[in-house]
Amino acid sequence: MQLRYNYRVYPTLVQQQSLARAFGCARVVFNDALRARQEAREQGLPYIADGDLSKQVITEAKTTPERAWLGEVSAVVLQQALADLNLAYRNFFASRSGKRKGRKVAPPRFRSRKDNRQAIRFTANARFKVMDNGRLRLPKIGDLAVRWSRALPAPPSSVTVVKDAAGRYFASFVVQAADEPLPPADAEVGIDLGLTHFAVLSDGTKVAAPQFLRRAARKLRRLQQDLSRKQRGSNNRKKAVVKVAKAHARVADTRRDWQHKLSAQIIRDNQAVYVEDLCVTGLARTRLAKSVHDAGWAGFTAMLEYKAARYGRTFAKIDRFAPTSQTCSVCSRPDGPKPLNVRSWTCPCGAVHDRDVNAAINVLAAGRAESLNACGAQVRPAPVPAPRREAGIRPRAARCSARSAEGIPVL
Ligand SMILES: [Zn+2]
Repeated sequence: MQLRYNYRVYPTLVQQQSLARAFGCARVVFNDALRARQEAREQGLPYIADGDLSKQVITEAKTTPERAWLGEVSAVVLQQALADLNLAYRNFFASRSGKRKGRKVAPPRFRSRKDNRQAIRFTANARFKVMDNGRLRLPKIGDLAVRWSRALPAPPSSVTVVKDAAGRYFASFVVQAADEPLPPADAEVGIDLGLTHFAVLSDGTKVAAPQFLRRAARKLRRLQQDLSRKQRGSNNRKKAVVKVAKAHARVADTRRDWQHKLSAQIIRDNQAVYVEDLCVTGLARTRLAKSVHDAGWAGFTAMLEYKAARYGRTFAKIDRFAPTSQTCSVCSRPDGPKPLNVRSWTCPCGAVHDRDVNAAINVLAAGRAESLNACGAQVRPAPVPAPRREAGIRPRAARCSARSAEGIPVL
């Protein structure tokens, strides 16, 4: 499985300038290429093939006075920027034709100097190197100091250097990691993700929602107010922007750490894990949006999924239309929808149910039934997340953890 390992890096001032130049060159190549394809389309010309585009916006561009400075950065960085664009186009076309499932993918957009997140990628071709002295050697940048919060399990195939909105730098390595099956566990668990609790397990465990964002909300609101009072374009405004970004990054880091611990424990203790497939994007548009984002279920389920695959556990999402909170887990009698404030109820069969635990037990039962249907065996192998090249269609917000020591899958 391909995993991502993030480490904080501390470039010197000179290295920061070299990185800024590389970010800029990658952005210019990306934008030049996007513009070339858009213009071709407007003129009714065919889609420019990847190879032709590379010649046009890199090889030939370097010979012109306007773009001669592209030669100052590693050619691999420029090629990888183009690869991002090509992938963004492929995803867009596949989404439009219906070949790609899920949310609609928008066509690629221009990158901006003001984007929150700047990134460049070096592949093995670029001959980046982790030195014996622990520094990361990047061509035409230098040897960067890295804080190795944990060892890389294998030689990396690529490294992405990221500068986030909070002004921090990270090296994100892609590593092919071997699966590490854990000794078999007896227990299986169904999980109900909710708003009153972050998660309720079918064994009755209730995990309280960590309302990190809520707790930090007061501070964020104050910082946001500070920011709104600053004059546009002023230096003080820029400083305030960084402060807000830092506060957000801290919340994201804490949440990610907490979710890593919880998901690791659930995977360690259970042979099979079933979760209700929540329509998170749907919920996020409702009144509950803040709680939904605070809870961060999507990231949590993704962690469960790749950890299950890596440690030899079964993982499955249960159809979100299964009425888990409306059915008695003892007699399977449907009892109709219940408003959210109904926390417990008594079934005509005499069973008294905690709403969430009952739902979790139903998720477990549905998961077991589905596993049996799927292949007639007790255990269905968990789907392994398909490795994907880094997309980077648009810069994501400042979401790079300083402390996510655990590798994350390349999704
Ligand atoms: Zn019943």
